[in-house]
Amino acid sequence: MPYLVRENLFIGNISDAAEILQNGSAEITHILSILSSASISFFSEWAKGLTIPTKEIKKIYVCGSGAATSDDDLGVGSKSSLSPDKLLYSLEYAGKDLTLVRMAVPLRDMECEDLLDYLDVCLDFIDQSRKEGSVLVHCFAGVSRSAAIITAYLMRTEHLSQEDALESLRRSCEFVCPNDGFLEQLQMFEEMGFKVDHASPIYKHFRLKVLGETYNRGEKIDSSKFGADPGMPTKVSSEGEAAPEVAKKRTPAYRCKKCRRVVALQDHVVDHIPGEGETSFDWHKQRSGNPFNKSKETDCSSVFIEPLRWMTAVEEGAMEGKLSCAHCDARLGYFNWSGIQCSCGSWITPAFQLHKSRVDNSTV
Ligand SMILES: [Zn+2]
Ligand SMILES: [Zn+2]
Repeated sequence: MPYLVRENLFIGNISDAAEILQNGSAEITHILSILSSASISFFSEWAKGLTIPTKEIKKIYVCGSGAATSDDDLGVGSKSSLSPDKLLYSLEYAGKDLTLVRMAVPLRDMECEDLLDYLDVCLDFIDQSRKEGSVLVHCFAGVSRSAAIITAYLMRTEHLSQEDALESLRRSCEFVCPNDGFLEQLQMFEEMGFKVDHASPIYKHFRLKVLGETYNRGEKIDSSKFGADPGMPTKVSSEGEAAPEVAKKRTPAYRCKKCRRVVALQDHVVDHIPGEGETSFDWHKQRSGNPFNKSKETDCSSVFIEPLRWMTAVEEGAMEGKLSCAHCDARLGYFNWSGIQCSCGSWITPAFQLHKSRVDNSTV
């Protein structure tokens, strides 16, 4: 039986969801499924002979640039660490009379899974569903994934810390236990102010960490997962002339000292706390004041950025190598998947480094 968490909000496992999808429910009108596959066929694989009618409403994908896309609309998505063309969610009518609205999100119960990038869509769905009826949030066991999503929901709606939200959820359902990777991401969610802020150094470090883990698992890294090259024209204006992205915004940028090609924008910089010997894996646990305000940046001889599409050397798959200007081939810095130590003492892992002596920082 599903457990009531708040008015119109339930948590449950796969058999709770299957029961409602098969026989309907007097109360539940919406289902949020968080399973390793978003397809309804997951239910028939789980219980042979179980077939659930569905009618697709829409499917939303995340493409390489991070924009969310679907067949019928081109949503303006934000940057995210999801792989290119990865399914973000599907929305369908389900159940015997197709009266239930089911949103399905593909997420495995693993510490390395990227929970953050699904939070906004899941929490918005729960909000909307509670206005229209009642929602069941379920995963396979009703212990980790669904609990992580509901914890985030309670954090956002009731402004609770991660610990308080989980504690509150445990009062409704005592055995909930999100995995450690999810707890860590919920901590980041709290530190970002109960939203997934893509401009935040917290999110940028997380994104690098996800990419680093992909590399460490031996998966091919292709540059479509990297940030856009700020030195390349990205959009054709209505007059038909191509303008580099950088020309439109007056934003600080790093240029190759030798040929002046733009190699990175300020947005691409992944800040680190000078001299604290931190890594991208545990840096956010440091809580002394606001370390980014110390501005000891002058002590650092390098600037670290997210991987960008001009870094063809990275794509070749080596653990480390030189980063050279895409225009004049001048050496700009290094990359190393296992990390580089900045002159201030901090380790950045993985690292994509520009030597300050090789680039100019100017507003364009
Ligand atoms: Zn430094
Ligand atoms: Zn150059």
